[in-house]
Amino acid sequence: MRPRRGRAKHLDPSLCLARLARLGVPFRRASPHRGLVTPVVITGPINGLKLTPMWGHPPALMDCGFALLLHRIAPIIRRVGVDELRYSAFYSYRYVSGTGRLSRHANGLAADIFEVRGPGGFSANVLKDWVRARGGPGDCLGGVTDPKGRVLRRMACALEYSGLLFQVLTPDSNHQHRNHFHLSGLRVGERPLQRRYAGRRLRRRRMAGR
Ligand SMILES: [Zn+2]
Repeated sequence: MRPRRGRAKHLDPSLCLARLARLGVPFRRASPHRGLVTPVVITGPINGLKLTPMWGHPPALMDCGFALLLHRIAPIIRRVGVDELRYSAFYSYRYVSGTGRLSRHANGLAADIFEVRGPGGFSANVLKDWVRARGGPGDCLGGVTDPKGRVLRRMACALEYSGLLFQVLTPDSNHQHRNHFHLSGLRVGERPLQRRYAGRRLRRRRMAGR
């Protein structure tokens, strides 16, 4: 029997793995982990996007569905001049800070990106190079002139406007994200959480009439 529409929260594991293989994503199956439906470890660049752990963190363990998403958003990220994401974690069984809610990291559906790199030795660090609270809708750069700040801001905007992610959080979101981008994936049937601008919640009044 086919599952009723809108009921399944996750892609069927065998379907997801077959898709990942067909797309040529280098991966291996991982052992079962609490919270992961289809655990995989990404073992090489995903659609031209390199994933590098920082501080000796473990390899890129995530849910298969998030790997499919990374494959999909890789061209968007590469288009802004980034071909490497340096992360602390994808999967991590934990709660959203200050709440009893499980984080999407607990389901392997999120990434914490601290640094990005690109061709020609380009490197930008979210803590050092993010220029805070500039611009607004339709004005991604907000007058930022620093090349590193521009790339970071372009990447956040492009991902947000793609509508492919549940949420993009940046240093503009809150203090907890002062040093990294949090990118989280949609569950089956979900829509992006809300309209933000480069991770910054827009004031109601500014949103009105748009
Ligand atoms: Zn995160």
